[in-house]
Amino acid sequence: MLGKLSKHYDYLVVGAGLYGCMAANRIKAAGKTCLIIEKRDKIGGNLLCDDIEGINVHVFGAHIFHTSNKDVWDFVNSIVEFNRYTNCPVANYHGELFNLPFNMNTFYQMWGVITPEEAQKKIEEQRSDFKKILEAEGRTEPANLEEQAMLLVGRDIYEKLIKGYTEKQWGRPCNQLPAFIIRRLPVRLIFDNNYFNDKYQGIPIGGYNRLIDGLVEGVEVMTSTDYFSDREYWNSVADRIVFTGAIDQFFDYKFGYLQYRSVRFETEILDTPNYQGNAVVNYTASEVPFTRVIEHKHFEAFGNEIYENPKTVISREYSAEWQPGMDPYYPINDKRNSDILARYSELAATVPNVIFGGRLAEYRYYDMAPIVEKVLGMKF
Ligand code: UDP
Repeated sequence: MLGKLSKHYDYLVVGAGLYGCMAANRIKAAGKTCLIIEKRDKIGGNLLCDDIEGINVHVFGAHIFHTSNKDVWDFVNSIVEFNRYTNCPVANYHGELFNLPFNMNTFYQMWGVITPEEAQKKIEEQRSDFKKILEAEGRTEPANLEEQAMLLVGRDIYEKLIKGYTEKQWGRPCNQLPAFIIRRLPVRLIFDNNYFNDKYQGIPIGGYNRLIDGLVEGVEVMTSTDYFSDREYWNSVADRIVFTGAIDQFFDYKFGYLQYRSVRFETEILDTPNYQGNAVVNYTASEVPFTRVIEHKHFEAFGNEIYENPKTVISREYSAEWQPGMDPYYPINDKRNSDILARYSELAATVPNVIFGGRLAEYRYYDMAPIVEKVLGMKF
């Protein structure tokens, strides 16, 4: 039995990821009392950074903050100053390098085209076969990710830069995946390797732990504390609950497990100051077992600063099907899971005094900024 807390709170926040910490911050700002409980031994959820050889290592995968919402940007910068990191991933396909997202550099590397007009012509040519198929079938909308890719950039780019990477990442053939996953990838007829279209982008100076610590400053936090170990007790400590855990677990999996993709990281310290010259290199060939290699120092060290540390830390990312007990990462928004989610969501709407929020409770492929935006707009 758990010891009794001496206090009753306005809110209990279950989970100290970004959503939970944002909620706690806003609850405190509203003059209400709040306790956060977190089952891991550290707060921050998947934003957690670990200092290895003086480098902030993104333990649960690379996080790059990007938004076009000035209020969101100003808010996070009021907690910790962000640097000017701009994500420009490079794709390695059988040793050939291509810039991402798909832009004039990529088109030059792929086809040798020099001008936007030449690139446009080449893309049109690449897309035309597939467009004809759609027209013949009387369809206008792509039915899956493969079709979306063929419509967006055509066969060459699909086969070299999308197919292998996507199938490794999601563990499913592209023609069985929803089109929206790659709709966010920009196609540009300019020489611009910035992966995101957003106006503001960066990494907290000193790492994400500073953002998280800043958000929960003055809030009571209990780590290594699992809500599910004694729900009745935890339900009794506050008037309302902000629940950021997995929605299927909240309802005892009564409609079945929601599926996720999980990621395994192989992290290595290397005796070189600069291993790959970039924070993110995607390996897009299906034969390479990992999806990407992250070199963490490049998120926070620029220009000659990278040589101030003679070592570097890299993480190879291996995508895996989630099994109970593993860390869930990406929700799989296929029909099976969407149907199950709809049933849980319907039930969630009937639970009084519980707010379900974040990637696991909403089962949504969330970036960080939309979470900040959403919680900033909530009234506690
Ligand atoms: N993608 C791809 N090739 C790449 C990078 C991304 O085909 O080199 C596709 C892939 O389907 C992936 C999606 O774009 O699932 C979104 O990738 P992103 O890196 O933006 O997602 P993240 O893993 O960062 O959330």
